[in-house]
Amino acid sequence: MIRNKKVVILGGGLSGLSAAWHLQRKGIPCSLFEKENSTGGLCRSRQSNGFTFDSCGHLLHFKHRYAFGLVKRLLSENLVEHKKSAWIFSHKTFTRYPFQVNLYGLPQPVVKECLLEFVKARFNGKNGFPEDPSFLDWINQTLGKGIARHFMVPYNSKFWTIPLSKITCEWFDGFIPVPSLKEVIEGTIGPTSRIFGYNARFWYPAKGGIGELTRAFSSRIKNIFLGQSAQSIDLKGKTVHFSGGNSVKFDYLISTIPLPEFLRLAGRLPKRIASSSKQLKHNSIFNLNLGIDRQGLSGKHWVYFPEKKYPFFRAGFFSSFSRGLCPPGASSLYIEASYSEDKPIDKGDIEQRLIKGMFECGILRPSDRILAREVNDIKYGYIIYDRNRGSALKQIKDFLKEKDVFCLGRYGGWEYFSMEDAILEGRKICEVFI
Ligand SMILES: Cc1cc2nc3c(=O)[nH]c(=O)nc-3n(C[C@H](O)[C@H](O)[C@H](O)COP(=O)(O)OP(=O)(O)OC[C@H]3O[C@@H](n4cnc5c(N)ncnc54)[C@H](O)[C@@H]3O)c2cc1C
Repeated sequence: MIRNKKVVILGGGLSGLSAAWHLQRKGIPCSLFEKENSTGGLCRSRQSNGFTFDSCGHLLHFKHRYAFGLVKRLLSENLVEHKKSAWIFSHKTFTRYPFQVNLYGLPQPVVKECLLEFVKARFNGKNGFPEDPSFLDWINQTLGKGIARHFMVPYNSKFWTIPLSKITCEWFDGFIPVPSLKEVIEGTIGPTSRIFGYNARFWYPAKGGIGELTRAFSSRIKNIFLGQSAQSIDLKGKTVHFSGGNSVKFDYLISTIPLPEFLRLAGRLPKRIASSSKQLKHNSIFNLNLGIDRQGLSGKHWVYFPEKKYPFFRAGFFSSFSRGLCPPGASSLYIEASYSEDKPIDKGDIEQRLIKGMFECGILRPSDRILAREVNDIKYGYIIYDRNRGSALKQIKDFLKEKDVFCLGRYGGWEYFSMEDAILEGRKICEVFI
């Protein structure tokens, strides 16, 4: 075990906090440096005019007992279980999510096309299925061209911002439910009550928002240094320099800051690493949170919007996760729009367009008044799994590992990670030091 070595962690989001907590519990001293004046990263909650807002929706789903147990221990009584109520708004109708098993309620020609094409895809089996399918191939050949045309392609194109033929299938293992023909037919002839997918349930704090989780971690960790933004990293001299003039030496560096940012701070890099860095693609999320002067805005948890006429891909209701997040007689919601280098958005009027869309789909009413509003422009939103990502990432990680740098978390490790994954990554890194 490397007790007498200096371990430095960059970034105090969930991954960095989990790494620090696990290392310190194992008796391995470490220091954590965070650029903001509070920890939490994307899992921070903020107050505005009596409302508590998160960055979009941050809901806890668990596949692993260990992570569930740890979160239960950290949040104790302040954790509530919910049965997911996820919907889609298309063709002027709300239908349940996932689309493929909830065709009931859509216009008849849409239902007919989805059903017939699903049957065709089923009978076609693996015929013509490419060896290494793109996400688009997978959708067409697994769910059929009807479900593709009416939901999967428009929704995912809006969300990912690049053609789905350029995206691989590595990221969604288990995420996208593939129903049987019986399940699709059942969902066509009437509303289904069964909830599909691994995240049929989720957990969320009773009060305080998701920031309660990262606060609970932070309060149990020593040596957290806030307001320390890494400005340059000397890989040879094993030193991080911060914007205020401080610097820290390390034997091992755990970085949870976005990988392209880390590489930029590391200065001169071998050509192959610099060019790999350029291959790392991501989308960005423009998030508008609103507090509204009406109770019971929606009983739903969140809604997907596949249609082009709405500039957002999803909206959700904080007040459906916890009444404690807004004042009495009010409700709160979040709206999410996606953009990237390939598909920029006009930020000049985006807020007005998002609000207008909420009125147009009927979620907001003309009599509603906005009591609070908050914007989060999330530069690093979702990692894009294109054909270049795997090899570029391996080159970069191997190079950094040789320098005793470990890249961790959703943006440090450049993965499609949930909060649970971020927590588990923080635990896994301990293995390197034991
Ligand atoms: C829109 C959206 C919705 C999501 N919803 C869910 C959900 O419902 N459920 C779920 O499980 N997961 C969700 N996630 C994923 C979840 O947010 C992440 O898995 C998790 O928060 C990642 O934590 P992290 O520590 O890896 O990254 P971050 O939270 O980004 O933490 C990185 C930290 O590094 C700091 N930092 C950056 N640069 C520097 C620097 N130069 N010097 C020092 N510090 C620096 C940042 O300030 C930040 O605190 C969502 C993500 C997004 C984008």
